Amino acid sequence: MARQLGREVAREVGLEQQDQTRVATALSEVARLLLAEAGSADVAFAIGRDRVPTLLVEMEHPTPGDEGRLTAQLGIVGRLVDTLEVGDSETGTVVRMSRRLPPGAPPLTTERMDDIRARLDAHVPGSPLDELAVQNQQLIAALDEVRAQRDDLARLNAELEETNRGVMALYNQLSEELEETNRGVVALYAELDEKSVQLRAASEAKSRFLANVSHELRAPVTAIIGLGRLLADESSDRLTADQTRQVDLIRSSAADLLSLVNDLLDLAKAEAGRIEPNLADVDLRGMFGQLRGTLRPLATRPEVEFVVEEPGVPVMRTDEVLLAQVLRNLLTNAIKFTAEGSVRLSVTRVGDDAEFEVADTGAGIPPELHERIFEEFYQVPGSHALSGKGTGLGLPYARRLAGILGGAMRVTSEPGKGSTFIVSLPLGSQ
Ligand code: ADP
Repeated sequence: MARQLGREVAREVGLEQQDQTRVATALSEVARLLLAEAGSADVAFAIGRDRVPTLLVEMEHPTPGDEGRLTAQLGIVGRLVDTLEVGDSETGTVVRMSRRLPPGAPPLTTERMDDIRARLDAHVPGSPLDELAVQNQQLIAALDEVRAQRDDLARLNAELEETNRGVMALYNQLSEELEETNRGVVALYAELDEKSVQLRAASEAKSRFLANVSHELRAPVTAIIGLGRLLADESSDRLTADQTRQVDLIRSSAADLLSLVNDLLDLAKAEAGRIEPNLADVDLRGMFGQLRGTLRPLATRPEVEFVVEEPGVPVMRTDEVLLAQVLRNLLTNAIKFTAEGSVRLSVTRVGDDAEFEVADTGAGIPPELHERIFEEFYQVPGSHALSGKGTGLGLPYARRLAGILGGAMRVTSEPGKGSTFIVSLPLGSQ
């Protein structure tokens, strides 16, 4: 009867078919144990409404102190419900069970509860044979379901195995590819390292060669200039007009050669890392004054205004000689390549840098050549019509020096409008 009522109640409150069987079986098992012990037991059903509606069942029998033994025997029954606890009550031993109702269960209003109570009152328990038939039905349904689940599980396992095989194959393929790529990358790096060592060695050899050759050339070229001067001297033997012209040609060619040799030597020294900046606090007002004085004689064209502005940074920590060299190269170029307008030197502070600007309104440089003019010996075609030949080494040298001073050099320029060379150098701590 406990079993039948348990199933009825479970059905009425909305538990699903399987849960009804679970509750009924749990109840029947607890009732069997209690009745075997005491011969009678009370069963009470209730609905808990704590968070989710829950079916509560309480069974009590009048033998106290049975708690330990019952707990041991009911271990497996606990799996059929959500909670199962055994405790001592004032009158005997009590077993409490609970099972949560599914979310879709119809709400248990007072009317429905009354209704359920009335139907349970009217319930006539079936005979043990009827109950056996019901139990058999349930067992068959449960076994069926177990088999269906086992089949499902087997199918899922097979699928999973296949997926695993696929994943493993993919993984193996990917690892192989990755390994191969890695091997390639490692080989590439090794090659790159080797190449950069070779490049560095080649570049050092070139700098050394240039430095040695230009150094060796300086003495004979200076001698040629000196001898030329002697030949042309008034106090020497008189030369014919032709000879005078030839000696003048020798002297001016030798002077050109000397300036080329000097520029080469400077650049080679800078490239070989042989120039060490000598840092000190530099008074830019003084330096600008000197540049104004030494370069004004070069700015001979009346159509060109030569302006050295008041420095916007009074003092900075740098190498005075190298900085003056950089600015002198840029200003000489600006004066050389400007037919009219102005050449202007200024410096302003930008963040932690001093930005020197040499701006002219001269020939300008086409945008595609803005990097090439920093290559050794490169000269913009036709640019020397105005100024006579140069060496093509001034800008590469100036950029090297800016780098040695911890800064950088860039250019903005538009053909026909003019050029601005910007040197930004760290102010340094003063
Ligand atoms: P050089 O002046 O001796 O030819 P540089 O290395 O100083 O060599 O300059 C390289 C080339 O860049 C110059 O030949 C010239 O064509 C171009 N250039 C440099 N400065 C300017 C400038 N301010 N305006 C126009 N062209 C310039």
